[in-house]
Amino acid sequence: MSRNLRVAIIGAGPAGFYAAAGLIKNLENVSVDIIEALPTPYGLVRYGIAPDHQKIKSVSKLYERTAADPRVNLLANVHFGRDLNLAEINKHYDAVVFTTGASSDRSLGIKGENLAGSISATDFVAWYNGLPAYKDFINKLDAKAVAVIGVGNVAVDVVRILAKSVDELATTDITDHSLDILKDSKVKDIYMIGRRGPAQAKYTTKELRELGELINADIFVDKKDLVLDEASQKIANDTRAISIQLTELDNYADRKPEGKARRVHIKFLASPSEIKGSDKVEAIVLEKNKLEPSPSGYINAVGTGQFETLPVDMVLRSVGYRGVKLPDISFDDKRGIIPNDDGRVLIEANGEIVKGQYVAGWIKRGPSGVVGTNKADAVITIKNLIEDFSNIDLTPDSNKNPEAIVQFLKDKGVEVVSFEEWKKLDEYEIAQGKKQARPRVKVVDTDKMIKIAKS
Ligand SMILES: Cc1cc2nc3c(=O)[nH]c(=O)nc-3n(C[C@H](O)[C@H](O)[C@H](O)COP(=O)(O)OP(=O)(O)OC[C@H]3O[C@@H](n4cnc5c(N)ncnc54)[C@H](O)[C@@H]3O)c2cc1C
Repeated sequence: MSRNLRVAIIGAGPAGFYAAAGLIKNLENVSVDIIEALPTPYGLVRYGIAPDHQKIKSVSKLYERTAADPRVNLLANVHFGRDLNLAEINKHYDAVVFTTGASSDRSLGIKGENLAGSISATDFVAWYNGLPAYKDFINKLDAKAVAVIGVGNVAVDVVRILAKSVDELATTDITDHSLDILKDSKVKDIYMIGRRGPAQAKYTTKELRELGELINADIFVDKKDLVLDEASQKIANDTRAISIQLTELDNYADRKPEGKARRVHIKFLASPSEIKGSDKVEAIVLEKNKLEPSPSGYINAVGTGQFETLPVDMVLRSVGYRGVKLPDISFDDKRGIIPNDDGRVLIEANGEIVKGQYVAGWIKRGPSGVVGTNKADAVITIKNLIEDFSNIDLTPDSNKNPEAIVQFLKDKGVEVVSFEEWKKLDEYEIAQGKKQARPRVKVVDTDKMIKIAKS
């Protein structure tokens, strides 16, 4: 190669950093820019993972090592689609890897879903974790009973945040604005509701156990929900994690309540069919389900026609994140992902390959898997990218110098935040946290973030 291969990675979450790590591990003559819309890197590690799960967030130390490599630059506070378009990317780079995650949410598609007090877990998580646009998303938590729809790890996170006392949360990096609202929370009952049975729940054992360890809340499970049909029994027999989870749930069902401040109820085999209320949420109607295995082996929840009305003042929908279409980039609207063949972007699902475009992480495969899942996923994408460029002679091009894009953005008036500048903000937040024995105090205002980063 007569010059370095120039690669833009759009999105500085786990997938973006694993893609960058893959490139510098396998190519010497490469120059990578990680372009991030927010002034901060790490995506959902900062804005998704629960504040009381600090250990997992330490994965960012690995990403710091990638960012320290001279072949990698972070260009944060640069939004693809607003500050930079595809034509400009094509001018400055040989290849682009989209790692923009899945920032939207799926809806339930039921009556009353848009009533005041019915919100998505995606928004609630963004609020307590300090995504700048969500600072004022909630200004009062006067609900006494909350229905959390979904039994995945995000639903469990949300239940914990609602159930824990402010004293417990005050030792984490939850945002100050959320602590202020949560300290006056009136929440008493939290119902976590799953469409299918306990053998099909999506949470992990560790997260389920944390619900049983809450200092501030008793846990309730109805033994009747734990009676398994034949297909579910087979799953439980064959899958150790599920059999452990069932034992755990059985123990919860046997517990005597200790009169704690809050109550967490786990309900299975129930689908929301309507959210009721005149101008705000007053109740949720649940249809009792039974399970029916399909020929493919998937076990479906089928309504029985029996309904229950649960009086609640708030509904938190946690039924999955969803990718967002990027301007001029193909999108599979049904799946909420960029259509791809092992990371090579396609014009449409099963269509032709779009030369020079790649994808990794949640926008490649949908919102599933833990942080580490994105590593193996990015490795496949980068292997294909490297293969595609292995026989291409890169002719000299002044637009493909790393300085050219920085100058271009500067001329446009974009305030690019570099990795070194982000570290200033990082150190500032950690120093503020130290004063209160917390991991950090997050800055939530974008202008303030940039000011500190540029100081
Ligand atoms: C609430 C929640 C809790 C979780 N908890 C855990 C946990 O405890 N443990 C665990 O292992 N995993 C957890 N996960 C999963 C983990 O966060 C994901 O697997 C991982 O973050 C996905 O990585 P990603 O890079 O694909 O997407 P993201 O982390 O979402 O990163 C995408 C990045 O792209 C940026 N971006 C988007 N659009 C643009 C654009 N147009 N221009 C520039 N940049 C853009 C975003 O700002 C973001 O920084 C959790 C997920 C959620 C939602």
